[in-house]
Amino acid sequence: MLGKKQKLRYSLKRMLSYNGAGFSNLVRDKDRIIDFIVDTLLEGGYRGMSPYSIKPKHIKYMTTKWREEKIGESQFSDAMRLVYWWVVLVGKTNILVEYKQYCLTIYCCKCEIDVEARLTNGREIYPHSKGVSNLPFWICDGCSNYVGCHHKTKTRIKPLGHIPSKELRNARKHIHILLDPIWKDGLVSRSQIYADLSKELGWSFHIALIRSIEEARNVYRVIRTMKHKYITKGVP
Ligand SMILES: [Zn+2]
Repeated sequence: MLGKKQKLRYSLKRMLSYNGAGFSNLVRDKDRIIDFIVDTLLEGGYRGMSPYSIKPKHIKYMTTKWREEKIGESQFSDAMRLVYWWVVLVGKTNILVEYKQYCLTIYCCKCEIDVEARLTNGREIYPHSKGVSNLPFWICDGCSNYVGCHHKTKTRIKPLGHIPSKELRNARKHIHILLDPIWKDGLVSRSQIYADLSKELGWSFHIALIRSIEEARNVYRVIRTMKHKYITKGVP
């Protein structure tokens, strides 16, 4: 029987050894950092916690204490990465919102610069749609545009691409409408059309990588020309 004090330590070590979230290589010496985190929480009087009971007050307590104790930068960032990973695994990404560490540099198509995007979840992006409330998103606080993540993969918080503007999101939808029937109807395979498009455009084509309306317009034009070619000449 594990004592109340050791329950969190044991559960975190088990949970964070799971590789599914794609964070396994972020922190060396994981067990030592977990001990450090759990010891800090115990010193703060937080006993009997489970991984699922993590709250903003716990993170606030730890970061304040570590800053006061002037722990090394690398230990601080290792510990915060593990806390980050912990919070993502229990599906509470929303509580990271106020912490600047959880930012990622992503190109924002609306702001036309690389921005420090903030990790959030579907509760903020689509408040009325329950099905997506726990899905991760990156948001640009400069313009409120956002991008989703490869959430079904090992790297669940990896952004799908750049942060699109509203116009660009519509343009991308339009591209799907133009492009998808061509391969869905069997005129040409999906990989073939993507390869042909990449060749024609001069960059490795992916809809999520279109950065501007001008680029989107160019893609429409190329798709139309290619479709015409496939119909009239057949696929080479
Ligand atoms: Zn922006």
